[in-house]
Amino acid sequence: MLQLVKLQTGRHAQMIDITSKVQDIITQAKMIEGIALVYCPHTTAAITINENADPDVVHDILLRLDEMYPWNHAGDKHGEGNSAAHLKASTIGASELIPVVAGRLRLGTWQGIYFCEFDGPRSRSFYVKVQQGESKD
Ligand code: ZN
Repeated sequence: MLQLVKLQTGRHAQMIDITSKVQDIITQAKMIEGIALVYCPHTTAAITINENADPDVVHDILLRLDEMYPWNHAGDKHGEGNSAAHLKASTIGASELIPVVAGRLRLGTWQGIYFCEFDGPRSRSFYVKVQQGESKD
């Protein structure tokens, strides 16, 4: 099953916790065991897993990415002027694959799944593909 989820981002750069949206899709699919692929179909946004307990972690990730990829760079040629957002998207990556056990995402205690906006605010979307699979262990 492939499900499209739409969302509206609210800032130029932002990490939105989508863990509960992904879990809801797994629950609705009545999936007990398998894997969930969370995939971003945009070139200036990304998907990652990181800490969802202390919001300062998200702040610091966005801050460091800004330092790594300043918005203005004298050498950039891309006409849209958003090369920093493209670089951030490729650095973070377009997808995450998460095991599902007993109907729940098998995330660590402090982990959450984030949709990362790097050139917002925009109307965005991501895909969740759930794949049932039996564990032999
Ligand atoms: Zn661009």
